[in-house]
Amino acid sequence: MTGLGAGPKTGPLAVVGAGQAGALLSIYLARQGHDVTLYESRPDLRRTDIGAGRSINLALATRGIVPLVDVGVIERVDEITIPMRGRMVHAVDDPTPALHPYGSRDHEVIHSISRTDLNAILLDAAEATGQVRIEFGAELESVDFDQSVLRFTGGRTEPFGVVFGADGAGSRVRAAMAGQGSCRFETQWLDHCYKELTLPPAANGSHQLDPNALHLWPRDEFMLIALANPTGDFTVTLFAPTATFGALTSTDAVREFFLSEFGDFAVLVPDLVEQFQANPTGRLGTMRATGWSHEDRAVLVGDAAHAIVPFHGQGMNLAMESVRALDRHLRESPDDLGGAFRRYECERKPDAEAIADMALDNYLEMRAGMIDPAHVARRSLALELERRHPDHLSPRYNMVMFSTMPYAEARDRAARQAELLTAAMADPAVDVDGLVVALPELPALDPLADPEALSIT
Ligand SMILES: Cc1cc2nc3c(=O)[nH]c(=O)nc-3n(C[C@H](O)[C@H](O)[C@H](O)COP(=O)(O)OP(=O)(O)OC[C@H]3O[C@@H](n4cnc5c(N)ncnc54)[C@H](O)[C@@H]3O)c2cc1C
Repeated sequence: MTGLGAGPKTGPLAVVGAGQAGALLSIYLARQGHDVTLYESRPDLRRTDIGAGRSINLALATRGIVPLVDVGVIERVDEITIPMRGRMVHAVDDPTPALHPYGSRDHEVIHSISRTDLNAILLDAAEATGQVRIEFGAELESVDFDQSVLRFTGGRTEPFGVVFGADGAGSRVRAAMAGQGSCRFETQWLDHCYKELTLPPAANGSHQLDPNALHLWPRDEFMLIALANPTGDFTVTLFAPTATFGALTSTDAVREFFLSEFGDFAVLVPDLVEQFQANPTGRLGTMRATGWSHEDRAVLVGDAAHAIVPFHGQGMNLAMESVRALDRHLRESPDDLGGAFRRYECERKPDAEAIADMALDNYLEMRAGMIDPAHVARRSLALELERRHPDHLSPRYNMVMFSTMPYAEARDRAARQAELLTAAMADPAVDVDGLVVALPELPALDPLADPEALSIT
């Protein structure tokens, strides 16, 4: 087996895809002393308008913050994030929205961040290493492992030694690995889609809704969410069954739908119908892959390895946490690349599976749970128990968003906690505090998980 820096198959290191995973990985590889070429099919987003309709902002949480601290870009990230303290729930029959805080501690907030601005920070940091060359407009078509060349559209070829597939959910690196029999994958499509809209700023440029909350309009079968941007606007996303989108074909149908379901939102957006008709409708799926590497020649990161539905706001956080794990495995086994790749998958695959399932569950919690009094009471009890026993219990949402314990551990702990909450809700005489302190202690946070890394005011 060969390492990244020596051996018969040594050749240029190629990262394909300059999203969060590819840009971050390039920085880590450069920090290990390697020269890297980063190939990206699209133009440089720092110099081009990438256009509306493709998840303009994202929720950043602890697992994503840690690698950003690690590679030294957190101060720049801090300048562009907006903290969100909880879900601001807009009920259909109540004109006053209600804030449901995410946690009982000050730092338990998530952060709205522009995808473009975050990627730009990572690309700048990659270039600043002096070891990463970025080629924009380079769309990979296929990987020829026999000839050790990457084939791009237009007929261009480039030699490679090792290729890192960070080319997103539809990865062509993954397809090439599947062609070698190394990787199997399957995408389970949801029968729900999404569409992004923009809630513009008020006439004086300020936000029309409280920017420090994730706004949620839960409507059981579907929901609307809104995250603030520093520019005074909100990125708003409608998630709904495919059939609902299918019925919204006329101007009147769209107007009527928004006015009856999301009236307080609809009145704030004068060109709502035009936006709805102009913006694309996106599909939602979970891509599960087995075999994230091909010998010591190729490995997958980010959505290329594990694409999940966006309902836990974790796809990017998961992607960046996985990149950091890969960096660690590469450093631990510098002379056994194939082994490092396999150990990376062994570590991360159970976690990717766990968050994929929890993300699917969270759709139900957001669109239906938030308007179910029993569910809301259960969540309040979990938060109260966390306040009383912070070393032993943390609600599932909080373990996913504000801890660095493996996702699979968060899922398993949550299952035990769920039994305990069910028992306590069914019988007030149950010694719930006794049951909680009998739970194993929660693991410590990663040392880089500084709760004050990002401003929360
Ligand atoms: C509606 C929606 C909302 C989301 N909200 C959140 C959220 O709040 N929080 C969160 O953590 N995650 C969220 N996600 C998930 C998140 O966007 C992804 O998990 C994350 O962006 C994955 O990063 P990546 O770098 O692996 O892939 P990508 O960001 O998809 O990057 C892949 C890159 O590869 C390039 N590329 C693709 N094919 C080729 C090719 N053939 N040749 C060269 N380059 C190529 C692409 O142009 C792109 O730049 C959301 C996703 C969606 C759809």
